[in-house]
Amino acid sequence: MRLAVYPGSFDPITNGHIDILEKTSKIFDRIIIAVIHNVTKQALFSLDERVELIRESTGHLDNVEVDCFSGLLADYVRTKSACAIIRGLRTVSDFEYEMHMAMMNKRLVPEVDTLFAMSDSNYIFVSSSAVKEAALLGGDVSSLVPPVVVRGLKEKLCGR
Ligand code: ADP
Repeated sequence: MRLAVYPGSFDPITNGHIDILEKTSKIFDRIIIAVIHNVTKQALFSLDERVELIRESTGHLDNVEVDCFSGLLADYVRTKSACAIIRGLRTVSDFEYEMHMAMMNKRLVPEVDTLFAMSDSNYIFVSSSAVKEAALLGGDVSSLVPPVVVRGLKEKLCGR
């Protein structure tokens, strides 16, 4: 059983994340989307809301499930007996941070490798933070996130 963990903030999940999942779910038997519970990072969506949005947006991917974790990613992947960590790469600016994190994780949990996937060129510029910023200013983000996220953003931002 080749199990991979796809960790991230997913605040909220975007079509870029889904593109990475559609590609990598063909490579692995099972993927756990692991939502990071980071108390120091201010999120727009609560952990439960992020999990629910992911669940509703990934129903078409049979071998993909969602979970949350706090603490060290290396500990989490070890407890799950994962063989790989999935991360997405957009531009060169992602690379340096991701490379350091992959090297650190390799040192902490040598039996697990990080696999980088590139998203479709349509999603290279898509990030959760850019989507939130555009939505906050009234922009139409319906081509960048799943419909359930469009609704979630409207509900969150209408009172602001
Ligand atoms: P984090 O806070 O850990 O960066 P994110 O939810 O922003 O969490 O991203 C999780 C992973 O998905 C990261 O590896 C990020 O580079 C990748 N990712 C995010 N958006 C895209 C996208 N549009 N295309 C490819 N990868 C992406």
